[in-house]
Amino acid sequence: MEIDFIDAVDEQARRTPDAIAFRNSRGESITYAALKRESDALACWIAGNEDIPARAPLVVYGHKAPIMLACFLGCLKSGHAYVPVDVVFPRERIASIIDQLGPTVVFDTLGTIPAMLGDDLAVPCFDEAELSDAARQPAAEEALDALVRVQPDDTFYILFTSGSTGTPKGVQITRECIDNFTGWLCGSVYAQAANGEPRIWFNRSPFTFDVSITDLCAGLTQGDTMFALEDEAEKSLALAFESFTESGVTDWVSTPSFVDQCLADEAFSAALLPNLKRMLLAGEVLRPETVRLAQRRFPGLRVFNAYGPTESTNLVTMCEILPSMLEQDRSLPIGYAKEGSTLLVLDPQTMRPVPDGEHGELVVVGNTVALGYWKREDLTEAAFHACPADLANGMRTYRTGDEVTRDPDGLYYYHGRYDLQIKLHGYRIELGDIEATLCALPEVHMACVLPAWRDGSISHLVALVVPADLDAPRGFALTKKLKRDMREVVPTYMVPRAFKYVDSFPLNPSGKADRKALAALVEER
Ligand code: AMP
Repeated sequence: MEIDFIDAVDEQARRTPDAIAFRNSRGESITYAALKRESDALACWIAGNEDIPARAPLVVYGHKAPIMLACFLGCLKSGHAYVPVDVVFPRERIASIIDQLGPTVVFDTLGTIPAMLGDDLAVPCFDEAELSDAARQPAAEEALDALVRVQPDDTFYILFTSGSTGTPKGVQITRECIDNFTGWLCGSVYAQAANGEPRIWFNRSPFTFDVSITDLCAGLTQGDTMFALEDEAEKSLALAFESFTESGVTDWVSTPSFVDQCLADEAFSAALLPNLKRMLLAGEVLRPETVRLAQRRFPGLRVFNAYGPTESTNLVTMCEILPSMLEQDRSLPIGYAKEGSTLLVLDPQTMRPVPDGEHGELVVVGNTVALGYWKREDLTEAAFHACPADLANGMRTYRTGDEVTRDPDGLYYYHGRYDLQIKLHGYRIELGDIEATLCALPEVHMACVLPAWRDGSISHLVALVVPADLDAPRGFALTKKLKRDMREVVPTYMVPRAFKYVDSFPLNPSGKADRKALAALVEER
């Protein structure tokens, strides 16, 4: 069953016009009626603006403010994909995204882009005042009737994620993918658990991370309220907790890392969030301890684990974590396959299916798969065209790089990656992305970035560096400079916490840095 996302959100404006669609910790909110009115007005303004290239994907920059949602919908209703860019992205990354998109414009909801990019900003940029003004203009009937919204095969959004060569890559998700995903979520075991009662969702993840799409699809289409953190509350757990008391949150969607961070404080309990009933956790490994502790702090809490890469429209498996699963001596399952998608477990060398219970690479097949990476045919070819034609059945496919097993009853388990992609505190990172950034700095000859592990999770990153000048001082001052230069290029969460300097790298037989030997070096020290 598909649900037309745009229609379903608009429909709420008719059913419950005064209900709050979205609210943030700064107290800004928007009702369903206002969301429809403003997004209609923005769509008409976009369609009539000659500075905005027809049908081009449009950048929407900012964080968790109501105007962001109005802009997303305004883009979609006027036939444009939206490209969310969050405040965590540094200048170079934003410039790279705008550059890769080609003809585009920036909806700068914070008004900071011109100062940040300076002369590098080569496309029109509209600030918050202009956008709010456009959103306030009443949309004329004829202009509304003339709008051509994104069609099922058109791109709905492009999310830029870490790329292994130092350049972010844009994942193109179609409207059909989203409508299909929305339909599945709204009929899923998770939705059934709520039994139709009104929900207030904690919309934790930035809009650049597709975990945030989960509650937009599952909640906004059903007339629920989204609650999100802005500004200081985003950076300080104490302030976040303060805002939780007023939030009324019933449903929590985040990475397990963020839950762990909250659970580290005993105040994170039913006293703080008395209405919290369900948690939908996704994006990285969910540990049994996290579930046990969360259920101790929130008696009766139901926890669901879900899995999926951005390239397959957020989630492709889901299940509730049952007490029996917590008692087993194995990792927690990532769930059953999303209805309407086919999940294959293939031998990564031969690309042939492996029997149930055996390890293999997960390949997703069906209309849940992205169109590919924006203007990156090379990367698209490798990830989206690797599945043999007899298994693809003429459908789109995506090779995840994830090592999984499937039980005979259809339950999937995650066992790690086949490549150098990692999750650090919920963020998806290609280690090659950080290494390319480091190697571009004049002080660096070679660099290898390795994860440091604690209690089954990655605690931080360690950069091993061969300096360009082996005789130059290698102390704190060099590390400080490298970190500062990196922050200009990659988000702060991608800057390694520790730096170690060596004269050369041990090499493996193919002449590449021997990561295993280097990992031992990190552990020894
Ligand atoms: P992203 O595209 O940022 O959503 O990251 C997708 C990747 O995160 C997947 O390919 C997995 O490696 C990892 N991942 C997502 N969900 C889970 C989960 N529930 N358990 C383990 N790993 C996960």
